[in-house]
Amino acid sequence: MKLLVTGGAGFIGSNFVLYMLEQHPDYHIVNVDALTYAGNLENLKSVENHPNHTFVKADITDRAEMDRLVAQGVDVIVNFAAESHVDRSILEPEVFVNTNVLGTQVLLDAARKYNITKFVQVSTDEVYGSLGDTGLFTEDTPLSPNSPYSASKAGGDLLVRAYHETFGLPVNITRCSNNYGPYQFPEKLIPLMISRALNDQPLPVYGDGLNIRDWLYVEDHCSAIDLVIHKGQIGEVYNIGGNNERTNVYIVETILEELGKPDSLITYVQDRPGHDRRYGIDPHKITSELGWKPMHNFETGIKETIRWYLNNQDWWTRIQSGEYQDYYNRQYGSR
Ligand code: NAD
Repeated sequence: MKLLVTGGAGFIGSNFVLYMLEQHPDYHIVNVDALTYAGNLENLKSVENHPNHTFVKADITDRAEMDRLVAQGVDVIVNFAAESHVDRSILEPEVFVNTNVLGTQVLLDAARKYNITKFVQVSTDEVYGSLGDTGLFTEDTPLSPNSPYSASKAGGDLLVRAYHETFGLPVNITRCSNNYGPYQFPEKLIPLMISRALNDQPLPVYGDGLNIRDWLYVEDHCSAIDLVIHKGQIGEVYNIGGNNERTNVYIVETILEELGKPDSLITYVQDRPGHDRRYGIDPHKITSELGWKPMHNFETGIKETIRWYLNNQDWWTRIQSGEYQDYYNRQYGSR
């Protein structure tokens, strides 16, 4: 099988490429990534010379290049490529629409033109909006995105749905909760807090810190996508989550405790505009219909993840310069 994986130098995409090459050593992966600030070829060092991994630096909005790549006998497209950070989408929404909506459409056109066997759109629970104190997102929950990021992902998802309904394109959409694990860019909650705590810097927590996210270890997300590629019913949406709802401040306190740092590093900052209060995934469909099961327990997974960032400080210190520092100062001020 030949897979075209987009965004395969980012956090989840690179974990997915490594996972698939291990699970299916005979599959060929063409990994397309524009290497934006979030893409990092260091994540893929261990498969640099793998005979079944080909990296191509390209932008998914580049129609001619996507056509050329898909024409080379691709069976399945897995679309991870995206602008993925909510805070950046508030600062600069346009690039989110370009990549997450127009880029998806370019890939769908190529998929259609060359009759691929499946298009998997990797999406997020954030397209469903925010939950109150009770209830969970199911695949039937109406889309109600609140940030430019989630709105652009919802736009991409709706195009995927429309290409299935209108043109009969064989598609699946997956909507996963928050991921954690190795190679996550240090602007996201867990690696941001670990890296700042290690440097005894204040940890900026939005609002009252009681916003709830549902966490899943990245490898469990990868195994779910692997199953959807092989067993997902054409045209269906699958929610992915491991029933691990935690408040943001619980995550930060866990990190501080694990690193032996004081809670006094926590600094509450003005809440993010449009900040969703709670996400929670009902994973019943993928567990019962496809037999998916997460393998990682949150309390041990988070500790392993903290250890990974401790042991790979070179990886994130190299990233935290230049553009990153500039972004951080715009977002939180130069604390
Ligand atoms: P990431 O920001 O770490 O990686 C995104 C990758 O896409 C980067 O390597 C970047 O260089 C690449 N990219 C960006 N624009 C591109 C373009 N125009 N053309 C080609 N490549 C481009 O993001 P992530 O956290 O790994 O998320 C991957 C996907 O999973 C996204 O679609 C995101 O919406 C979805 N998702 C993420 C989470 C999460 O918790 N991180 C949860 C659910 C779904």
